[in-house]
Amino acid sequence: MLEILQIPVLQDNYIYLIHEPNGWATAAIDPALAEPVLRALDEKGWTLTHILNTHHHGDHVGGNIELKSKTGCAIVAMARDKERIPGIDVEVSEGDIIGLGHAEAKVLDVPGHTSGHIAFWFAGESALFLGDTLFGLGCGRLFEGHAEEMWASLEKIRALPPSTRIYCAHEYTQANGRFALEIEPENQALQERMVRVTNLRQQGLPTIPSLLGDELATNPFLRPHSPEIRRRLGLEDVTDWRVFAEIRHRKDSFRG
Ligand code: ZN
Ligand code: FE
Repeated sequence: MLEILQIPVLQDNYIYLIHEPNGWATAAIDPALAEPVLRALDEKGWTLTHILNTHHHGDHVGGNIELKSKTGCAIVAMARDKERIPGIDVEVSEGDIIGLGHAEAKVLDVPGHTSGHIAFWFAGESALFLGDTLFGLGCGRLFEGHAEEMWASLEKIRALPPSTRIYCAHEYTQANGRFALEIEPENQALQERMVRVTNLRQQGLPTIPSLLGDELATNPFLRPHSPEIRRRLGLEDVTDWRVFAEIRHRKDSFRG
């Protein structure tokens, strides 16, 4: 059983600390900063053994070097992106297995937001750490990839068990939801989720992790097959990735 700690940092980032008690292993996922991680480790009495980076952006690797020099942890990241990951020790690719004490994560290659983006899937724990690939009711911007590539990445995620908990790196759900309601206003599951999301945010509580099953039912970026979305976009006879591309394009200029 993993213990997972969610640390809010910067404007809207989440760093996750995951602890495997039997093997005395602890990993920080996407440490934007070192100091909040060091403080949490101290409070918990944990020793950092790993950093797992999903991609190279500063708000995901900013704490790498300081954490490594203070704890001696090993930094695990995408082999294809090794030039851009500060302090990388272990280069991984699609399908590789990372041991964290007695727990295991499988590496999924999910390019699109950046060309070297990966996710860590702890199947035994129903937990997926996916950085900026998918968000609550949204998905990452296409900074280095194109829509067809991102859609292939999202299809990989769509194929996982719906009970999978989605640990993304930003609290964007409420703002994303305003766009989602514009794209698919008649989706009742979406309307209901937005009520829950608004309540949580009013209390200052996180909406993350979410459940993949809920994202499948409400996140427009996973729903290019939706007849309502296709009708609204006037894209009834094109492939899913082209509908996805249009949703992404509209979101980029959406001012809600
Ligand atoms: Zn990013
Ligand atoms: Fe980010």
